[in-house]
Amino acid sequence: METIKQAIKYGVVGLSNTLITMIVIWVMMKLFGCREGLSNLTGYVAGILNSFIWNKQWTFKGSSTGWTKGAVRFTIAFIICYALQYGLVLILKLAVIVPCYNEEAVIEESYRRTKEVLVKLPNPTEIIYINDGSQDKTRSLLDHIAATDPHVKVIHFSRNFGHQPAVTAGINNCDADLAIIIDADMQDPPELIPDLLEVQERENANVVYCVRKSREGESLFKLFTSKAFYRVMNYMSEVHFPLDTGDFRLVDRKVMNEFDRFKERGKYIRGLISWVGFHQVPFYYEREARIAGETEYPISKMLKFASTAMLYFSKKPLRLATSLGFISVLVGIILAVWFTLGKIYGFSNAEVGWTSIMTSIIFFGGVQLLTVGVLGQYVGILFDEIKARPEYIIDEKKNY
Ligand code: UDP
Ligand code: MG
Repeated sequence: METIKQAIKYGVVGLSNTLITMIVIWVMMKLFGCREGLSNLTGYVAGILNSFIWNKQWTFKGSSTGWTKGAVRFTIAFIICYALQYGLVLILKLAVIVPCYNEEAVIEESYRRTKEVLVKLPNPTEIIYINDGSQDKTRSLLDHIAATDPHVKVIHFSRNFGHQPAVTAGINNCDADLAIIIDADMQDPPELIPDLLEVQERENANVVYCVRKSREGESLFKLFTSKAFYRVMNYMSEVHFPLDTGDFRLVDRKVMNEFDRFKERGKYIRGLISWVGFHQVPFYYEREARIAGETEYPISKMLKFASTAMLYFSKKPLRLATSLGFISVLVGIILAVWFTLGKIYGFSNAEVGWTSIMTSIIFFGGVQLLTVGVLGQYVGILFDEIKARPEYIIDEKKNY
């Protein structure tokens, strides 16, 4: 009888230990957004304290052989706790990375919609907003959101550095296991986040990249240039890129760790993430129209973006320039032979060839300038890269 009672007591202590440890870890991670390490430590300490209190009061009462029993019980409790916390750690932390530039019109709605999706997930989550030097009210709106929600981190840049540096800063300053990169304007609907997570889990993918089946509210010009861009890019580049994908994608810790190692300043992020490799799977979706505000990608920024992509991922422009040079030399030789023979055998009257001379001077002058220009682009990149300036400058961080 006494043994059964004692066994029940041990059982109760063990169970309460496990429960307390689990609950503390869960509260720390889910409600306070703490990292696993800290949460686990706090959970363990709470569990061990609990067992000491109970043992002193109840289980060991009047027992003189408590030490060995205590040690055995402690070890068992430790193993159970460890197994359980291992189960908890398997729930991955998710970060949503959102670059924002002059997005005062959309930011609150964007936060509301994203948050609505995130609270329904079992994972601990956070949103990282990168304010890319906005001149409107974006900064104060983000500060306000960060003040009311501890799961929102904000990074303010010292000025506008551009979309790609903003996303880079988000990845560099993210400690979650999974991250989803998404635009502030809700063109990529946050409601798709659970689907992305599901695909990631089902396929055990390192990257889930989103492919646009259609694009709402986009000008014909943008549709055409973007379609053409991805196709030319694929032809030019040494690596194959999936067509019609933006930066909207899910990446895991492995990919983020590799990404953090990239030293190049001109980052074409979707290309780099493709280039990293691992297991990447597509996810097809309909791209929506902006919910409000204007696109921050005018034609000049689009061209800069396209040229970064092209020049950083391909040496084909250089090779094309060389081929062009070869062709001109060949044409030159043929013409020289033709005119010399013509002079000797009298089938060509070279003196009246003013038009042909002018045309070829202008044509080959153009070819030369073009080739030098292409070369200059690469030299420019070398110049930028060798200066090794930081890619962005952070003015302030909130909730870090
Ligand atoms: N963006 C940025 N810095 C910039 C330009 C844009 O951080 O210099 C952000 C912008 O706030 C948005 C995302 O990048 O969240 C995509 O920009 P936009 O919607 O203007 O581009 P589009 O969807 O038209 O390609
Ligand atoms: Mg947009």
